[in-house]
Formats: sequence, C-alpha cells, structure tokens
Amino acid sequence: APKVVIVGAGHAGTTLAGLLRQWRHSGEIVLISRERGLPYQRPPLSKKLTQPDFELPLRPAQFFDEQDISLHTGQDVLSIDRVRRVVRMSGLREIDYDILVLATGARARRLTIPGGDLDGVHRLRTLSEAQNLQRQLRESGSLAIVGGGFIGLEAAAAVRAGGAQVTVIEREERLLARVASEPLAAGLASYHERLGTTLITRAGVAAITERDGRATGVQLNDGRVVACDLVLAGVGAVPRDEIAVEAGLHCEDGIVVDDSAQTSDPSILAIGDVTRRPLPTVSGTRRLESIPSAIEQARQACAVILGNEPPVPEVPWFWSDQHELKLKIAGLVDPAGTPIVRRHASQESFSVLHHDGTSLTAVESVNAPAEFAAARKLIATRLPVDPAQLANPDVPLHPAEP
Ligand code: FAD
Repeated sequence: APKVVIVGAGHAGTTLAGLLRQWRHSGEIVLISRERGLPYQRPPLSKKLTQPDFELPLRPAQFFDEQDISLHTGQDVLSIDRVRRVVRMSGLREIDYDILVLATGARARRLTIPGGDLDGVHRLRTLSEAQNLQRQLRESGSLAIVGGGFIGLEAAAAVRAGGAQVTVIEREERLLARVASEPLAAGLASYHERLGTTLITRAGVAAITERDGRATGVQLNDGRVVACDLVLAGVGAVPRDEIAVEAGLHCEDGIVVDDSAQTSDPSILAIGDVTRRPLPTVSGTRRLESIPSAIEQARQACAVILGNEPPVPEVPWFWSDQHELKLKIAGLVDPAGTPIVRRHASQESFSVLHHDGTSLTAVESVNAPAEFAAARKLIATRLPVDPAQLANPDVPLHPAEP
C-alpha cells in the first residue's frame, strides 16, 4: 500500500488521514503541520471569540496513536522534490512519499496600509492569533473591524455580545457584496445594527493611526478616523501555495485540481482552502473556503488513493453563525441576480432563493434550517421549480408538477 504524506493538519488534511484508516488503508500515513498542538476547529475562533471554550480539537489526542497516524506538529515543510519524491522540512530533515497530499490551507491577508503591522492590529486564522486577540479584547473597550465578510461579521457579533463597541468598515456599498445577495446583506446589516454595531460602507481604509507604536484608530480614505483600541483585519485569505508553485505544479492563486483532487503531478493531490477546484454546474475553477468543500475534497482524495468510486459531487454549501443568527448558503449565489425573498412571520427568519428560469440554483437561509435543507435538496436534483410560489412561506418548497 502506498505511503501517504499529508502536509497540513487542518480540516482537510486531518479529515483525509481519518478517512484513509476508516476505509482500511494499510500503508503508512504521515500528517505534518507547522502549527503546534493538536489539530483544531477554526469556526469557533470567530464565533466564540469572547468565550473561554473556543478551543476545540478536531480529534481527541489518542486518535492519532490509535489510528497509527504519525502526526508531526510544529514542523514546516519547506520544499518538495518531485523527482526523488521527498518533502524537506527544517533542519534538513526529509520524508519520502508515494503519494503527497497538499492541504496547506490559507493565511489571513495582511492590511497593506501604513500602520497595518502596529501593535493592536490583529488577524484571525489560527488559534494563536485568536488567543492573542481574545487576551487583548479583555482590556479593550472598542474594536474596529476592517472588512464586512463572514469572519469580520462573526467576530463583530461575538464581541458586541460581550459589550464592547464595534465598528465594521466595508469598502463596497454593502456587506458581502461579492458572495451574497442584496436582500441577505440587508437582513444582516439590520441585525448587526440592532446588536449595536456601527456599520460604515463605501469606506476604503487609508492608514492605522497610532500613539507610541500602538493602534489608536482607523483612518478612512475620506479623512474620517474611527477611534478604537484594537483593529481586526478581516480582508480575506490567501492560499498557501508557495511550495507547490516552487515545485512547478499548476497554480493560479491556489493549486489547480480536478474533481478528484489531482494536481498536475499524478503523485500529488491537493485539498481544502489551498485549492482552486472545478464545480459541477459552473465553468472554470473556484476557490471555496469552507469546511464542507474541504471534507468533500478529502473524500475525493481518499477515493483516488484507495482506487474506490469517486463520491457523488455535492452542491457547495457553507454556514455562518453571528450571535443568534444562523446563516446557511447552498449553491453559488449570483450577487447581481434577481432573487426571491421568502419571509417568515418573525423578522429574523427568511430565505433568499435563486432561480435560473427553470430550477433553483442557490439558497441563502437565515434561521430557517428545515427550509434550507429542502432547498438544498431541490438544487441538487435540478428539477424544474415554479418560481411563482417560492415567495409564499406557507407553500412548502417542491418540484413543479410534470
Ligand atoms: P486549514 O484549516 O487552514 O489548515 C491548513 C494547515 O496547514 C494549517 O495548520 C497550516 O499551518 C498548515 N500548513 C500550511 N503550510 C504548511 C507547510 N508548508 N508545512 C506544514 N504545515 C503547513 N468554514 C465553514 O464552512 N463554516 C464556518 O463557519 C467557518 N468559520 C470560520 C471561522 C474562522 C475564524 C476561519 C479562519 C475560518 C472559518 N471557516 C469556516 C473556513 C474553514 O475553517 C476552512 O475552510 C478550513 O479550515 C479549510 O481547511 P484546510 O485544511 O484546507 O486549511
């Protein structure tokens, strides 16, 4: 059986290691991660930012021993030698592979403006970054978040619920302008404003202001300054594809893979946030930064390694919890499309449905889990759906009569 070396022990890599053993892979499995400590879940880092229990292991400590998975933590893979089939780590150490899986994830983008590296300016991707921010939040009264994306909004809700002042600064004219529909963004904006968060849109950031090397505020392009004790940059993530680029694998802002997680080298697979992947219903490739996508690709890689049938392609989906608001999105939302809003009696429960003239293509649900599940199933079947009744919450979602 081939020796599988997995670089990166995040959601994708750790899931794959477990799946391989579950499907009775008998060869060696080596799982390498630059982060110290046990592999952990990232979603709580923003959602539970102000709570003590946000550290959540992906698997219990004994799992790796029991499953005979050699876990090397605190080890950085520096390069890949594709001819000799070895990865090089610090201290000139080498590990050979039959199959290499790159699951190196992404890093949070830095703010590239003056003051972007000052004390008090944070990013939120790793446990240590979250611990650092949590510690400083205890001594702070106000936080400015640059970027109204999912992580920024989750952190805003958590910090606001803890009582601090929060301002979210977004460059576009609305929240989530490139990934979500206008009605969803409007619902989220009013929820956050009700929580007491200040939202500033159409506002580019020019600099972080300082006193004695510490951040004191965010200066906007129009000259306004948002005073704050701490800044969180929630401005997206960059795939960690450097070692793949250097090894000559096909990369385009992420490692390009096919729908079996194969890279341009037949001995190397790639899964998770580091990849740019095809999707069943759209042309080209996308970077999907989500746990369901990481798990789906881990299943693809497992099937390839073991020579099993590939898994059935999934409709991409994602969730985001912002205080008491539970958001779920399935399918690819065209932010410029004309969606149908399905509102429930309570103001805080609705779905936004996307229809291409024949069938459902995407759904964005807020506090409507059953409706989300029904819509997601309909999207997967691609059966015709009559758009006329979609807005009526009393008519269950169902395929059109033939
Ligand atoms: P990662 O989890 O980033 O793991 C990659 C690992 O590889 C890291 O530990 C990294 O240090 C290591 N590594 C990188 N390069 C090397 C190297 N050269 N050598 C050794 N090790 C290396 N998704 C959702 O679907 N729902 C959510 O609610 C949600 N919430 C999130 C909240 C936060 C705060 C964040 C940051 C992300 C959230 N996500 C969420 C996204 C989700 O966490 C990612 O999609 C997922 O972690 C991707 O898994 P991955 O294994 O590809 O990458």
